[in-house]
Amino acid sequence: MKRQCIKIPKKKGESARRVLLDFEILDNTMKIGSDDTFLYLPLSREPLSHELTGLPEEAELAEFDFEAQAKKPTPGDLLGFNPDYELIGDIALLEDPDLDSQKALRIADSLLRAQPNIKTVVKPLTPVIGEFRVREFEVIAGEHRTETIHREYGCRYKVDLSKAYFTPRLSTERSRILSWIKDGDTVVDMFAGVGPYSILIAKSKKPAKVVAIDKNPDAVHYLKENISINSAKNVEAIEGDAREEAKRFAGTADHVIMNLPHSAYEFLDSAVLLTKPGGIIHYYGITPEDDLFESSIKLIREAAEKAGRKIEVLEKKVVRSYAPHQYNICIEAKIL
Ligand code: SAM
Repeated sequence: MKRQCIKIPKKKGESARRVLLDFEILDNTMKIGSDDTFLYLPLSREPLSHELTGLPEEAELAEFDFEAQAKKPTPGDLLGFNPDYELIGDIALLEDPDLDSQKALRIADSLLRAQPNIKTVVKPLTPVIGEFRVREFEVIAGEHRTETIHREYGCRYKVDLSKAYFTPRLSTERSRILSWIKDGDTVVDMFAGVGPYSILIAKSKKPAKVVAIDKNPDAVHYLKENISINSAKNVEAIEGDAREEAKRFAGTADHVIMNLPHSAYEFLDSAVLLTKPGGIIHYYGITPEDDLFESSIKLIREAAEKAGRKIEVLEKKVVRSYAPHQYNICIEAKIL
């Protein structure tokens, strides 16, 4: 298919392509053409004179017989670089905190154009903060909402990202925890959020019971809805403080999940109280690289000894990098 194009020596091709992308005149429906010396960049319209002046001086207008592009352009094709984003349901979160508003808008536009599964693009305005571990967001483009449904391991989680915590980055970790659970176990998820640990366990195993606690009323609202959406049996959703609720379920848990990594250590007494003899605490922490596990193990041991119990460390795991020199870790400790 003959088209007007920019003919450019190969070594200058990339910078010319970026200019055409900036002006949105690169025709992404056509494959870029080439011969031994030149690239031929297809144009979607007649370039304006100021658009041509942005190009390397070797660039010239020409005609070329192009092949149609088989695949749909990706956001990277449209932008000339691959944008950094996280997908939660149909919402894309732009992760770069230094993104200026114009670039954020360009990225958002490319995501909405190239990925039909994305309906909304948001930018976090704050880090994950406060007792309820939530963020504030600005909607950059698309539908004006922060509520979505995320699918993970065949379960669906409805969440409003500005009201309750949720991250898909822990999905592998959730399946690792699942592998510890046996049919008939009682599980207490002390900081359950909208339910991604509790519901996965209830759906994939046959636990006697899963007690899912969270202090954030909005998280519990979605937790209850997610229990229903997923028809998860045997999950009791409780809005409350894990420290208080632990007293009601003392000595019942085969597994206690403590996914509140910044302050789980403050709840270790309650976790020990919850645990049956031989039950396992899944303890999360944020720790420095020169002391990944030892200080945390000491805290778990001290909490157990206060209750006249002993611990056996079963596993120590780096879950993910959290910040420079800081890691999100998990320790599996049996409470004897
Ligand atoms: N486990 C969930 C997940 O993976 O998506 C949520 C984890 S989020 C890091 C920690 C959760 O603990 C938040 O939903 C927060 O509201 C809850 N939380 C904080 N303090 C709490 C407390 N004292 N008792 C119960 N829940 C609490």
